[in-house]
Formats: sequence, C-alpha cells, structure tokens
Amino acid sequence: DSRDIDAEVASICPFCGVGCQVSLKVKGDKVVRVDGINGPANEGRLCVKGRFGFDYIHHPHRLTRPLIRRDDAPPKGLNVDPGNLLTHFCEATWDEALDAAAGGLARLRDDTGRRVAGFGSAKCSNEEAYLFQKLIRQGFGHNNVDHCTRLCHASSVAALMENVGSGAVTATFNQIEHADVAIVIGANPVENHPVAATYFKQFAKRGGKLIVMDPRGVGLRRFATHMLQFKPGADVSMLNAIMHVIVEEELYDRQYIAAYTENWEAEKAHLKAFSPEAMEPHCGIPAETLRQVAREFAGARAAMIFWGMGVSQHIHGTDNSRCLISLALMCGQVGRPGTGLHPLRGQNNVQGASDAGLIPMFLPDYQPVTDDGVRAAFSEIWASGDFSAEKGLTVTEILDAVHAGEVRGMYILGENPAMSDPDVEHARDALARLEHLVVQDIFLTETANYADVILPAAAFYEKDGTVTNTNRQVQMGRAAVTPPGDARPDWEITMALARRLGLDWAYTDVSEVFAEMKRGMKSLDNITWDRLEDEGAVTYPSLSPEDPGQAVVFGDGFPRAGGRARFTPADIVAPAEAPDAEFPMVLTTGRQLEHWHTGSMTRRATVLDAVEPEANCSLHPSTLRKLGVDPGGLVRLTTRRGSVTVMARADRAVSPDMVFLPFAYVEAAANILTNPALDPYGKIPEFKYAAVRVEKA
Ligand code: SF4
Repeated sequence: DSRDIDAEVASICPFCGVGCQVSLKVKGDKVVRVDGINGPANEGRLCVKGRFGFDYIHHPHRLTRPLIRRDDAPPKGLNVDPGNLLTHFCEATWDEALDAAAGGLARLRDDTGRRVAGFGSAKCSNEEAYLFQKLIRQGFGHNNVDHCTRLCHASSVAALMENVGSGAVTATFNQIEHADVAIVIGANPVENHPVAATYFKQFAKRGGKLIVMDPRGVGLRRFATHMLQFKPGADVSMLNAIMHVIVEEELYDRQYIAAYTENWEAEKAHLKAFSPEAMEPHCGIPAETLRQVAREFAGARAAMIFWGMGVSQHIHGTDNSRCLISLALMCGQVGRPGTGLHPLRGQNNVQGASDAGLIPMFLPDYQPVTDDGVRAAFSEIWASGDFSAEKGLTVTEILDAVHAGEVRGMYILGENPAMSDPDVEHARDALARLEHLVVQDIFLTETANYADVILPAAAFYEKDGTVTNTNRQVQMGRAAVTPPGDARPDWEITMALARRLGLDWAYTDVSEVFAEMKRGMKSLDNITWDRLEDEGAVTYPSLSPEDPGQAVVFGDGFPRAGGRARFTPADIVAPAEAPDAEFPMVLTTGRQLEHWHTGSMTRRATVLDAVEPEANCSLHPSTLRKLGVDPGGLVRLTTRRGSVTVMARADRAVSPDMVFLPFAYVEAAANILTNPALDPYGKIPEFKYAAVRVEKA
C-alpha cells in the first residue's frame, strides 16, 4: 500500500551482473519493499534475490563501529562469533581505527618489496573501485591490486583482449530478440542471471533456436532445441569438432573472414584434426549431433553466444573462450543486431570494477601499466610521481606471496577470500600469517575473522555511486536509507585512509571521483554524472551527449592493429587432476538461485534464507542409491585438499559420476575441496573440476 511508504528511491540490484533497476520503498529509515522498474536490462522484471533479498541491510549482524583486534584476543582463525565480536575486537573511534589501519600498512610500505597488497570489490561502485586501485598504486607505488574478476571471467577477458581487442561484451543480452540462433554454454542463467534468462526463454518461445551446452542439465534445457550435456572439461574438443564441420562443409563466411579477421588459414589447418567422429569419445556428444549443431549455427541469419563460469573456470578457460570467439568470427556473427559474444558477468559491478582498473596489469580502461605513456598520463591526473611499471600479483598469487613472506599486509574491501579462494585452507592460513590485515565490509565475513582492523561500510542501498552491468550499461545507484551506527560509504573510508597515508585527496562528493575517472577513461566519453542522474543508465560507448549508447559494437572492425579480430587455435588440455580409484567422481561448484557468492548477504536475507537454509549438494538418484543414501541424507565429499559433510539432493540434471556443490555455505565450504591449479593466461583457478570421493556420512 503506497500510503505506508515514506519515499521511493530508484537504484540498482546489488547482486548479479544483469543490473536490474529497482524502486526501493522506504518507511522511516528502512527499505520495506523492492519493485522492478523500467531499466534497459530488466524492463521492470526482478528475480527472487532482487525482489526479496534486501533486508540483510537491516540485519543485527551489521558492522556498526570500527573495530581493532584486542591485544588479548585468541590466535587468528575462523573463530569469531558475529553476534559477540568483543571477545576478539575492541570498539574504536574512526580516528583510532584509521590511524591503526594506515599506521600498520605504512609500516610495511616498501616499493621494491611490494609488502602490501589490496583486494578491492565488484560489490562496490565504479568510483570506489577506482579509488581503491588508485590508493594501492599511488600510496604504495606498485600494482598489487586485484578483485573477484580473477575468479570469474579473467580467462574470458584474456581471450577477448587477445582476439577481439576488448574485454567487454560485443552486444547486450537483450539483442537476443533480433537473433534466430543462440548458444548458451557453461552458464545457468535461470539461477544465476534469472532476468536475462527470461529473455532467453522468450527467444525460444517465439521460435529461436536455443542450443544449450553444459555438463549439468541446467534449467534452460526445457527451452532448448539441442541440449549438449558434454563431459566435464571437454569443451574444447566439442567446440573444435563443431568448427571442424563448418570448415569441412564450407559453411563459413568468406567475406567476413577476409574483411575483418586474421590467422584464418592457421585455424582452418588446426581444425582438421578435430572431426566429430574423433571428438565424440572425448566430449561424449554423438558426432551427428555435433554436425547438426554446426549446421544450425552456421546457417543462422543472426546468432549470439553467451557463456558463464562453466567456460571460464578451468585451466583451459582461455582456450574455451578462444574457441567461442573463433566460432562467432568464422560465421560472421559479430557486429550486427542479434549477433555477438557475451560472457555473462557475475557480480553486479564486476564489469565496472574491471573497467576502473581494479586489476594488476591494467590501469582504468585496460590501459597497460607497462606502458610509460599511460602511467605518465595517470601520474598527471593524480598529480603525483610515477609508480611501478611491473605488473602486480593476482588474487591467488598474492596469497602465495603471503605464504612466501613477500606480502605481509593487506587491505581487503568487500571480498571474502576465506570463502571464495580455491583450496581455501591455504587462503585462510595466508590471512592468519599477515602482519597487518585491514578489512572493510558490511558484515563480519569469514575473512574479517582474521583482521587486525575492521572498518564498517555502508551497504549498496545506503550510498550513491555508479555501477556497470554485463551489458556495458553504466547506471546510477542511489542511497535510500542511512548506514547503521558509524558505518560510512566505502569511498569515504578509502579516502580517509589515503589521507593518513600521506595522499592529498580531497573529494567532497562521489561525483568528483567520477569526473576524475572520465579524464583517464575514453569509454566514459559523453557519459556524465548529470546524464546518469537524469537518464539512470547510459551504455558505453556513447557517441554523443544524446546517444543512449551502442548496444552492438564492432560492426566496422575491431580495436586491434589493422582493425582485425584474430583466430587463435586451441588444443585439448586435460583438467589438472583426473579421477582415479581413490577419487573416482568429478566435483563441480557454482551458485544456486537463492544464494549469492559466499552468502554473506543472502544468508542474512530472511526470505532467501528461509527458502534455502541448509548446505546442500546435488547427486544423480542412481548415485544416491549406490551410496545407500536417501535424498536429504548426509554425504561426505573428499578431494585431495579436504573434506566436507553436506546434505544430498537427488537431481537428474547432474550425471551419475558428478557432484554439484554451491559455494555459499561456510559449514560445508566448497572451496575446501577445489583445485587451485590456474589457467596460464587468465590466472583463473579450476573451480569447475576436481576429482572427488563421495561417501555416506
Ligand atoms: Fe538482481 Fe540479477 Fe535478479 Fe536482476 S537478475 S534482480 S540484477 S539478482
């Protein structure tokens, strides 16, 4: 009833990369309801997380005061009760906490040794991501700064940068309305990008050919013309076989290849060895199905390819994306309405945080730190001297460097490596070893358990700032309620820390940060704070102050030398560990509809926690029968890294030799089990494949 509402504020859902626009209904100083509004990505729609997963911001576990670890605290470990923090921490004033945080980091400041590193967050705004990377670079002189893109689409970005010249999507997902064929591979949008999935379903219902490829029989299969449930880790063999058919039957687009690509002859020659008949045993898909799919894709008037972390989180994740790029290029399916390459971004601002330079090898807009001219330009914008030309360490490399004693202090904003990193005990040991750890967050995350200083931050609906979704749409998030207690917006905290580290930062409003970003980021040309206030969203690139932005890019060539995209052939690389007699099954991890990432927000959202309160895994009914376990019973999952006990669900979507485990539950943390082996290009861990033993618990 609108009479019960004091205010309505337009903002952006804080969960997935779809970036749905929301209307927050406020009563007093509380958000009491969330409705969808007509944003460019959601057109009024919301999923269960956006609609019902908002009351975590009013949860009694919110951090409301700065905290400093007590001198007599027990040894660091995952041992703090979030309802009783004062056993380990003392409440402090902001001055005391900021002095302690900055003092500890400054003591470790050492340009040559790179003793300090930072994990920023895709949960924060563009301005906050920008300031975070600026703090590490300007304040510590090096590039040891990264965020969760490393665990998400780093391999996709590596392949796109290499072959297309840009890491962002070439077309918005909404362009599917102009397509007649679409591939969705290694993604489960029905659970992870639910509003995007509604567009995919509509596409199929109006006769579009939807080809779904995944080792799990994901929710979209009901709408698919083909469901290719291939063997885990066998993506390259399947995709190369499809491309083999397109070459063999000369179904490729000669004109497009000649006009817009390079290295075609090498790709063509490479694909000869990958006939569907030869690849059938590798990928488990009948040769005839591979041939049909090849003909269907090559025969499309307009086709799109969507992919998710089932593609990217492998040691051959970059190769998987190279194959998808090659498939689109050889059929000329980039640069027109209804065509394109679209890695579905995970977190709501992982695109924006990456654009803002929160990565160790790039400054904002993917400008290399190794380029003297680029560094000089940012030194001028920042009015400070040079910083290192050496690429920084990535998320997983930083934790290795902590073990090696090279990195001794960290500033972590909104990330939760004590839950999200592969082989998580290694990450937890690293956090415990740090001489000085500053954590800034809205809850006492598992990572904050190890902190020396905890800085309480504002949640998304408590601050203003821009975010950029999977579609390249820069959107305005707005504060609807005030932060609890002493909590403050992240950008204010980072600035206060910077000033104590001797940096002359004096932003009086977050819009001034956006204005500074525009000086170094051509992608923001024609996008101003005022425009975003008025229009809510502008897609980049925007070609004029009136242009709402380009939904489809690269119609007239690519941002690479000569304007040409590249074919990079990919070979089959086996997963890093194979099942054997001791660990005979395959573990794969991911998310589920109700819970977001490490669960810090959604497990504190009343409705979502009520629907999905318990750690669970999915096993095929026949596997459960063999184990003698009833659905709802407990199983023990063991890999070479560790063991968890978890409730088992019967699920025909997983094959009998596979187990799926969501990573949101600390009591059965999936990443105790996962393999930290890395893709050599994107440096992304192999979350999607580990050899596992499953037993009745
Ligand atoms: Fe939020 Fe994503 Fe759901 Fe939209 S689809 S409401 S952005 S979680």
